[in-house]
Amino acid sequence: MAERQYVSKKNESVRMFKSDFMEFFSHVHPATPLVLYIPLVVYMLYAAFWQSRLSVLAVAALFVVVSIPLAVIFWLFFGLTLGRFASAVSAGFAFGYVCYDSIHYAIHHFPMKRGIWLSLKQYHLRHHFHDDHAGYGVSSPLWDYVFRTTRK
Ligand SMILES: [Zn+2]
Repeated sequence: MAERQYVSKKNESVRMFKSDFMEFFSHVHPATPLVLYIPLVVYMLYAAFWQSRLSVLAVAALFVVVSIPLAVIFWLFFGLTLGRFASAVSAGFAFGYVCYDSIHYAIHHFPMKRGIWLSLKQYHLRHHFHDDHAGYGVSSPLWDYVFRTTRK
């Protein structure tokens, strides 16, 4: 019965903040980040080439975002520890991250009214709104059992 307070029956995004001010900024059209950041990216590239006079190679090397270096670090780690299995493990690792990120987005923004999806939504929203020191799992509670972070 207590779980019902965390899942709406309406087709709406889940409230993320108690503050109306903060909540207002958490609901944007999916294209909003593109509209905001693409002009910034274009301007920064312009500044890098024309104001800072960096070469194409330097800009390309510096342009790479945080996630790609981290992926390379993990790939190298897997290569050192797993040898010829590293590429397959890396592919699974990257796919797992994409699944995690997609499920997390869906939990917050899509209506999930039954089955495993409702269970995942309830589980994750309890983490956000009831006890943020437990229930970290997004795609399953598996690692919460392993790391003993399930709710009491
Ligand atoms: Zn979340």
